[in-house]
Amino acid sequence: MKKERENFPLEPKEMIEFIFKRLMCGNGFIVRDNQIQLSKKIFDGIKNNNILICEAGVGIGKTYAYLVASVVYSLYKTGEKKSVSIISTSSIELQNAIIKNYVPALSKILVDNKIIDKPLSAVLRKGKEHYFCILRFKRIMNYLKSSDKDIDKELLNKLMGLKIGEISIDLDEYKGLKNHIVQKINVPKGCNYSCPFYENCRYIELMKYVKSSTHDFQICNHNYYIADAIKRYKGKTSLMPEHSLAIIDEAHKLMDAAIQIFEKRFSYEDVLIIVNVLKSKMKGNKSYLTVQKGYLDDLSLETKKFYQGLLNQLKNIELEEDSSQIRIKLGAYERKILGNIILKLDKISLYCKADIENRVSLKGKYRKRVLQALNEYRITDSLDDVRRFFKKVKREEYFL
Ligand code: SF4
Repeated sequence: MKKERENFPLEPKEMIEFIFKRLMCGNGFIVRDNQIQLSKKIFDGIKNNNILICEAGVGIGKTYAYLVASVVYSLYKTGEKKSVSIISTSSIELQNAIIKNYVPALSKILVDNKIIDKPLSAVLRKGKEHYFCILRFKRIMNYLKSSDKDIDKELLNKLMGLKIGEISIDLDEYKGLKNHIVQKINVPKGCNYSCPFYENCRYIELMKYVKSSTHDFQICNHNYYIADAIKRYKGKTSLMPEHSLAIIDEAHKLMDAAIQIFEKRFSYEDVLIIVNVLKSKMKGNKSYLTVQKGYLDDLSLETKKFYQGLLNQLKNIELEEDSSQIRIKLGAYERKILGNIILKLDKISLYCKADIENRVSLKGKYRKRVLQALNEYRITDSLDDVRRFFKKVKREEYFL
């Protein structure tokens, strides 16, 4: 962008009008006063470092309103640091439209009219689970090539036919690729320089490119934006570069995204599953089994009481037709039962731990095996040692 404010004879808000009324209007856009007003308001919000909440009616053209406000702020701002804007939306359609249509169209108009020197740049940001990992892909291909199973041969042909990783490393671009396959070839959580492909990894290169602060716009969804905010709050490496502006489009969906990220689910069915699994796996002497079974029975009973209490409250609440969530305040009775449930869970976990310790104690059943393993594998606090251990003791399929 042009750095010298003197290049522009107009004041920022006059520039906003100029862009909408003279430049965009001459390029097939219609002049909408509401849109210009909105853009000016957004500009004021950015300039004064305020939080601005706007409700833009359908057809106002909010996307260009905030894009123009952001560009004009960048043009007139003082200081060397580039202004980076984050745009967070709820739908992938809008993210794609911003990158493929809105930003290029605005950029062309501004470059053609010499308002900016270089085209505007926007990059799409999304989680690593959407990208192709060559390491995992090679592993699964090796396995599939060596397999005689028809189902594996079919998958091998499908992956080769789709030319996965050749056309793009964005797995969303391969239509027809089932989710369970994506999960086997996408970038893993613990992806780092210890990987043999790290130096030439296209995902790592892409991340370096998109994370750089040379782009004008970083486009993401609300979940990604919140994930970035959490990392910043915790003092961890952020997902996105430093930015001077965050635009939350389709903000009515932000709360849903926050609930999705922060919520903890706990249901009576979950507890029953845990209780049944524990009961079926429990081993040990009679007295141990009796005590542990007692704790588990208490846990299911208390949980049932807790949910029954909530259901009783529901009877007095009038439900709206489209309500998918209902807020219920926990009364003293429910809080007491919840306390009991937590106590029971603690007791169960302590009892399991005591049993494990018992099994490796002096007369414990597993003591010999554990000591033998300790001789072979030294004690370590290195994650790489643990990885090496798993590579050695587990079969190839384990890592697929
Ligand atoms: S660096 Fe990460 S994404 Fe790249 S190949 Fe290795 S594990 Fe996969």
